[in-house]
Amino acid sequence: MDADVIVVGSGFGGSVCALRAAEAGLRVVVLERGRRMDDAAYEKLADGRLPLINRREQPGLFDIKMQHGLATAGGCAVGGGSHVYTAVTMPAPDEVFANDWPAALTVGRMRELYERAERVLRPTPLAEIPSRTRRMQEIGERMAAPAVVLPLVVEKRGHNDHASPSTLRGHIATWLRGGPGYRKRTLDMSYLAQAERAGTRVLPLHEALSITPIAGGYRVRLRQLVDDDWREGELTARKVVLAAGTMNTVPFLVRCRDIYATLPAISAALGERFYTNGDFGAAVAGFSLDIDRDDGPPVTSWIDCWNTDRLFLMETGAFLGGRVWSIAVMGFDDSPGRLSLDERGRLQHHSAGPSPAFHAARMRRLREFAAAAGGALIAPPAFATRTKPATVHPLGGARMADRAELGVVDANGEMFGYPGLYVADGSILPTPTGVAPSMTIAALAEHVSEHLVSHA
Ligand SMILES: Cc1cc2nc3c(=O)[nH]c(=O)nc-3n(C[C@H](O)[C@H](O)[C@H](O)COP(=O)(O)OP(=O)(O)OC[C@H]3O[C@@H](n4cnc5c(N)ncnc54)[C@H](O)[C@@H]3O)c2cc1C
Repeated sequence: MDADVIVVGSGFGGSVCALRAAEAGLRVVVLERGRRMDDAAYEKLADGRLPLINRREQPGLFDIKMQHGLATAGGCAVGGGSHVYTAVTMPAPDEVFANDWPAALTVGRMRELYERAERVLRPTPLAEIPSRTRRMQEIGERMAAPAVVLPLVVEKRGHNDHASPSTLRGHIATWLRGGPGYRKRTLDMSYLAQAERAGTRVLPLHEALSITPIAGGYRVRLRQLVDDDWREGELTARKVVLAAGTMNTVPFLVRCRDIYATLPAISAALGERFYTNGDFGAAVAGFSLDIDRDDGPPVTSWIDCWNTDRLFLMETGAFLGGRVWSIAVMGFDDSPGRLSLDERGRLQHHSAGPSPAFHAARMRRLREFAAAAGGALIAPPAFATRTKPATVHPLGGARMADRAELGVVDANGEMFGYPGLYVADGSILPTPTGVAPSMTIAALAEHVSEHLVSHA
């Protein structure tokens, strides 16, 4: 075997498993289709020498997927979604775990796992809040809902940190790195850095194509970018952890089951119970509040409507001369969708749309927000919401369950029917999280890793 453990993908799930397996003394290889995004790579991204959008032939940082009935965005880099996320890193509310989660994942167990993830990720609320955060507090008072200063994985920027040029691409690079005055701590500075120090080999620009069981383990077929040329190869290991992110893991497994027939026994539950985490975007135009320009991170706070409506309204900065304020909504919309591949291998999303009660609540809360801010609400029309949901938090589709007929992986993240083959990313979540999900994905990967190393 080339390794004890191959981890496919280096986002929140993959980097946790890589660290814990390497700490246990296992030989770990991480395959990551994206690039290493160090200072030099961000400079190239800012001036156009590296692509912003991921393409099949040329890896780029943002993985945008526009499939039938759904638009999603994610990350493609060493460190996965941590390079594109806005750094909000927090546990899900206790009620999320009340139904549909494996019996072993009690609230107490999840707290223990969150603490483990927190010690490495170190999220903290901003010490100095900008004026937009204070305006959120005023809006919260008018809406009778608390404004929360969010825990972020960022730190104040040092004097020597590189500044991006003031072009559109330069601004995007600055935004991605945590804003003009802050630096985001991406996973390649936390979990993955520790994993590499413990001996993990991270192979960027390596994309896994399929997984096949072999005697004593698995073979991973892959392609590797060498001098602008993709070359095929393979690696073997006793165990494999698939952590390619929901929108990659689910189609990857469907191809292994239905097209290549290398994993024919994967559960019929694959693709079912896919969630968009209630994601919705809107903006408030012409608001009457004074918001000063600031050098803060992309987001700082949200209005917490969890107790009444199971949702949050998050500010994501003002633009167009400070007259339009963009607001992201997320929440516990547990109306499930289904992912599948069509006859040409293209991803399809099937859903009856958001839960009507949840959608009505988020529209009512957005109207209240706009009124409290003294502006006009701009929101997508209802038919678009029903037929073309967009999400940056795709979850589920390869869910964990106590019984094979209900899920794709068991309560330890190991695939039913395939011992030693694990899934550890957003796809295994049995329900949405309501809040931003990265910390729950990391916590679950801590749980999966325990089984991975104890049965090695
Ligand atoms: C704009 C934006 C803002 C966000 N903000 C937040 C936030 O503030 N807080 C929060 O909690 N969440 C946020 N998210 C969501 C968060 O980024 C994801 O929930 C999280 O990254 C998912 O973790 P994961 O481990 O499932 O997969 P990912 O982090 O997506 O990692 C998967 C990795 O696998 C790689 N990969 C895919 N296929 C293969 C293959 N075949 N072979 C090898 N490698 C492969 C990918 O390139 C990627 O690097 C945001 C997302 C976006 C797009």
